[in-house]
Parts: sequence; structure tokens; C-alpha cells
Amino acid sequence: MLLVAIDTLRADALGHAGGRAGVSPRLDALAAESVRFQAAFAHAPWTLPSFASLFTSLPPEAHGAGGDVSGGWRALEPRFTTLAERFQDAGYATHAIVNVDFLTAPFGTAQGFDTVDAQVAPDNHGVRRAGPTTDAALAWLDARGAQPSFLFVHYFDPHAEYDPPPAWRARFALDADRDSTAFRFGSREHVVRHRLGRMPLDAPTLARARALYDGEVAYVDHEVGRLLDGLHERGLDARTIVILTSDHGEEFGEHGSWEHGHTHFDELLHVPLLVRAPGLAPRAVDAPVGLVDLGPTLCTLAGLSVPATFGGRDLAPALRAQGPLPALEGLAAHGNFWGAALSSWRDARWKRIEGGALPLLFEWTRDPRERHDRAASEPEVLAGSRAAALEHLRRLDAVPPRRGPLVVPDDAARARLENVGYTGTEGGR
Ligand SMILES: [Zn+2]
Repeated sequence: MLLVAIDTLRADALGHAGGRAGVSPRLDALAAESVRFQAAFAHAPWTLPSFASLFTSLPPEAHGAGGDVSGGWRALEPRFTTLAERFQDAGYATHAIVNVDFLTAPFGTAQGFDTVDAQVAPDNHGVRRAGPTTDAALAWLDARGAQPSFLFVHYFDPHAEYDPPPAWRARFALDADRDSTAFRFGSREHVVRHRLGRMPLDAPTLARARALYDGEVAYVDHEVGRLLDGLHERGLDARTIVILTSDHGEEFGEHGSWEHGHTHFDELLHVPLLVRAPGLAPRAVDAPVGLVDLGPTLCTLAGLSVPATFGGRDLAPALRAQGPLPALEGLAAHGNFWGAALSSWRDARWKRIEGGALPLLFEWTRDPRERHDRAASEPEVLAGSRAAALEHLRRLDAVPPRRGPLVVPDDAARARLENVGYTGTEGGR
């Protein structure tokens, strides 16, 4: 099992999903060999709660990991069963290669991994790049024993700040930035000043930033390609399930802001999801799925029973039969790192967002850019959406939303997280 997550990768950044030409040849090729979910959604707009949902097959309201900038971070409690734990219990060697604190032991997300290779950066510049991340994955494949393996590889490059290596900068940056790194965008100071309303962003600046982001996506594409080549060279293709996804997207002005963690619009919740597995015919799936659906699906594809606590749908039988997916009750999302909690609920047609002065209601299938709020004109849809979400969350024992234990990071970890933008103040704590 090879689970690849590219942090901060919008679904529509990839070439096959409408992104910039030439940005993702390797992932486009992988998509052609995979079941490609064209409407896959994260359950939170930032890293910690989103990965916890992927790992536990539960929405954030049920697992309680997350928190916010004023109340602190909340860990995933050990009593939850994770995907890695299930594979570990079944005798798999489990290993994680990660590049952010939120995927390490103090946050509860490392449970189930025999070993975690975490290189957490002191700031947005010191992040382990995709190249060394792929090197670490290939080295682990060579060093592992004869056991079946569950390998989780986390790439962090497209996360701010946007600074593609020279070859990718030359290809994707706007003219002014091709040969120069003078324009720096996405530092911790930028994130904080923008959140505090002190750094309004104009369209030309966002376009420059987006071009650099695309350059980082292209660089990661190249490095994931190298990882897939390594899998092939080792003769592992035919017996490896490969998953490619992300924990959330990134906003570049679609709803008047930038970065992530702050809304539930689909530039943040819509993520890529590719599953390449022996015996699964490649195809595109338009029906909506959530990252919570991965847990049961991967267990079944690997021939393991699904833990009783997993709340997502098992898509494997439908994928094997090339039939329609099981009915969607709805997809819950929760969290707002930067302010009052936001919740959203998506069914096969509508998406409702609540929190603060909202609600908002969008017919997301016909209005994917979420331009036309229908909350005032569709009160019955709004009420039905609220009732469906409540019933779903009650069944998961998630009303009121669970809150995991407070994480008290050591000073170094706190400083690292502040330096990659997870803080609310300028110039210090
Ligand atoms: Zn993230």
C-alpha cells in the first residue's frame, strides 16, 4: 500500500483536472491508470483535522482533532482506530515519511506507524523538498523486510511559501520571476498580516503567487513520478495499491482571500483522489466521495476487514464491479483555523456552510465556483440539509462536536508551527 499525500494540492491544479498545461504529466499518466474521483472532498480546510479524517474515516466533529488559532491545537485521541493501525494489526510494516508537525506523535496522527521519518522545518524555507522525500521513500522500500508494507509519503512543497526549484521556476513563473527569487510570497508574516487584514492582495500579486505555486506542483509531480518509477523498477507495480490525494486546497482570491484554513469553499475542500489497484479498471467517477471513504475502501481492496469505528463508505465492491457507488448520505466538514468554527454538509446536489453570520447554500453540482447563495430562496433545502447532517453526526456520536485533548507542543515545535504560518500574531506569540 502506497499512500501519497501532496499537502495543499487543489484538485484543479492538475492538468487532467483543468490545471495549467504541462504542470502534471506524471500524475495525469497515473490518473489514466487509476480510478479517478473527480468530486473528492476533504473534511476540513487545513492539515490536522483533514488528515485525522482520512486516517480515522470520521469527520472532524467525530474525531475531535483540530482546534484553532485562539484555542490551541487538539490531538487525535489514542482510542480512535487509524488506517495505519489496521494494517499494522494485519502484519504490515507501516512507515510514514512526513514533513509537518501535525503528522507527528504529539498530535496523535502517527498512531499505527511502526516508524515515522519526520523532518519538520524551522520555517517555510527549510521544508524537506520533494526530491529528498522521494529519496527517503525509495530507501525505505529497499531497506524493508519481507512483510507486506504500508507506506505513507507526505509532500509539503505546494504549501506556502511558493518557491519552486530553478528548473520549475523557469518553466512556470511569470516573466518577472523566472530568473529572480526577489519576489517572495507566502512567508509566515504574509499569512498573519493577510489574516489580520493588513495585507490586501491584488490580482497581479495573486497571479504571480499562483504561477509559483504551479511550479511547485510541477516539481512534486516530477518527484512522485520518480517514486512511481522506483516502484516499477523494484517489480512492485502489480501488487501495490497506489493512492494519490491531498488534505486541502489553496485559495488564490476565488472568494476574496488567500491560503487555506479559513473557509469551506471548494478551492479548499475539493482535492485530487486517484486509486490505482491491481484488478481495478481505470475510470473516472463523477459521484461525490469523501476522504473518509478511503479507509473502508482500502481495507477491502487489501483483503482486510473494516474496523467497526470507520464511518465512511466502502467503495471497493462498486469499483470492482464497475457499478454505481453506494448512495451518499452526505459529507460533513468542520473547522476554521482562523476564526469561529465553520461546518458544512454536502449531499449529491447541495452544499450548506454554517458559522458566524452564515448560512450559505450552493447547488454545488451546477455552481461549482459557489457564486450564487441560495439560502434565502431555498428554505426547505436548507432545513433538510440541517436535519440530515444532524442525524448523520448523532449516529457518529458527534453532537456536539468532539474536541480532542489540547496539544502542548514544546517550544521548538511551537516555533516551527508559528513559522509556517499557524499563529495569530505578528512578531511573536
Ligand atoms: Zn495541509
